[in-house]
Parts: sequence; C-alpha cells; structure tokens
Amino acid sequence: MRMFKYLALAGAMATATASFAEERFITIGTGGQTGVYFVVGQSICRLVNRGTAEHNLKCTAPSTGGSIANINAIKAGDMDMGVAQSDWQYHAYNGSSEFEGNKFDNLRAVFSVHGEPFTVIARADANIKSFDDLKGKRVNIGNPGSGQYATMQVVMDALGWTMDDFALASELKPAEQAAALGDNKVDAIIYTVGHPNGSIQEAVSTVEANLVPVTGEAIDKLIADNPYYAAATVPGGMYEGSPEDTNTFGVKATFVTSADVPDDVVYQVVKAVFDNFDRFKRLHPAFETLSEEQMISDGLSAPLHPGAEQYYKERGWIQ
Ligand code: GLU
Repeated sequence: MRMFKYLALAGAMATATASFAEERFITIGTGGQTGVYFVVGQSICRLVNRGTAEHNLKCTAPSTGGSIANINAIKAGDMDMGVAQSDWQYHAYNGSSEFEGNKFDNLRAVFSVHGEPFTVIARADANIKSFDDLKGKRVNIGNPGSGQYATMQVVMDALGWTMDDFALASELKPAEQAAALGDNKVDAIIYTVGHPNGSIQEAVSTVEANLVPVTGEAIDKLIADNPYYAAATVPGGMYEGSPEDTNTFGVKATFVTSADVPDDVVYQVVKAVFDNFDRFKRLHPAFETLSEEQMISDGLSAPLHPGAEQYYKERGWIQ
C-alpha cells in the first residue's frame, strides 16, 4: 500500500512537471491602463489564450510606461513582444534619435495596428487654440518611457523650444493626466494615442476642454522628411468640446518583437490574431477600420519576424 501510494504520487508529479515544462509564458508590453496599447495587448492575449490547449502558450499583457519602455524591455529579454509607435520602431532599429548608441539590430516587426495622432488637449479656461499657445503654460509632456514624451522632444527640437518655454512640464502617466487637467494642476496634456481612448474621454467629462491643432511649417517639414509621420485628424464630435475636426500629425501603433523570440511563438500569436480577425476588430473602436493589407505593411521599418512572415505567406498576403 505504501509503495503504491508513493508510485501514484511520483506519477502525478511527473505529469505535472511534464505539462509545466511544455507551457511557455509570453509577455506583451503595452502602455497605461487608460490608453489603447493596453487594449491591444489584452486583446491579443485573449485570443492567444483561447488556444493554450493546442499550443501551450500563455500570454499576459501588463500595463507599462509605453513605446520606449517596451522596446527596451524586449531588447533586455524581459518581455517577448510589445506595442511601439512607428517612429520609435524606426529609431530603435536604426539607432537614431532617442536610440543613438542603443541600436536594436534584433528588433523585428510583426504588424501595425491603429493610427495614433499626436494629441493635445487643453482646459477651455487656458485659452489654448494653437500649439504655440502652449508657451508659458503648464503642460503634461508624459512619463519618460512613453512614446508621447519622446515624440514631444522631437516636436520641441523642430520648433527650437526647450522645457523652459513652459511654466511647468509635468511627467505624469496617462492614468494620472485626466485628473490633473480636471484639478487645474496642468493646462494641457500631450498624448500620442488611438481614438477614442479612456484618458481623453475622462478628461473631457471632468472639465470643459478642447483639442488643439498641431500644424504649421515645422510640422509639415517633420511629415515631409520622415516616412513614419503622416498628417492625421481627430474627427470632430468624437469628444465633447471639439465639434470640428482637429488637424495634427501622427504615427502608427505597431506590434514588435525580437529575433530571439522563436518563430513558432510569433507564428502562433499572429495566427491567433488573424484567424480571429473579426473578433479582434470588435475589441476596440480604434480597431474597427483595420485591414490585413495595411497591417502587414504600414509603419513597419524593422524586418518582419520570420514567424509572422510564415503566416502571411501561408495566407498568400506576401510572396
Ligand atoms: N503611444 C503611447 C506610447 O507609445 C501609448 C498610447 C497607448 O497606450 O495607447 O507610449
């Protein structure tokens, strides 16, 4: 009897160890909880985890600091995949701008997602009608590690501005910025993000506020000189207080990984998304207009990961 018990226990342990060893945990870097990256990561994981019984992948998508933090975490091997703005994908792969001296040769593109207008929203009582009006104001330029923080530096360089041009340059996270605007701690917030999003919805429901156009010669030049920027518009009526279209420039949210992540892992993640594409598109209004064709080409500057390439070839989307 004793012997039997022992054997049964050993058997159970062996089984447990075997299935544990086969499971692989993958982590996707996102952004703040009130942004859209968080929904991208959560949506991808939801679709991946529906198939765990077949492929043994278990996916989690925690909130992070955003684009730059995600790229750095993937480079360090702390995360497997992540969402990043197309401008920062470009610079990380090419070792330029913020990534000078920190080139990420092994960065790989998987697909792009929604467009992200560089968005400025201001309290109505601050009377900010153009980007120039931000001078002398209290502005949340975003948390270090976020895409908006880094892209804001590019815009300021293009305009010849420094932090001293603001009365205050705060570095609050997306989850904190709407309350700061509502509590009159800042006059305006900067956010590179898909629309509609929770953060700006929260801001306009707590205080009278308006979107601010980001236009002019310096912006036109940024768009003309850089393939990862394009003119962008936040549609009128999307947020209370902004009935007209707001013109600005924008980037694409892209999904990236490392060449060190195995092909079959990336293949299964891509398959989970595109085999269930209609379901994916229903998970956020910013995904509604996505098309497979655009997602596998727009905003991608690093080489495609071979696991993604394999799936796109199987579907006949690429040669
Ligand atoms: N574009 C932002 C970033 O790169 C994140 C926006 C979001 O979370 O949806 O950090």
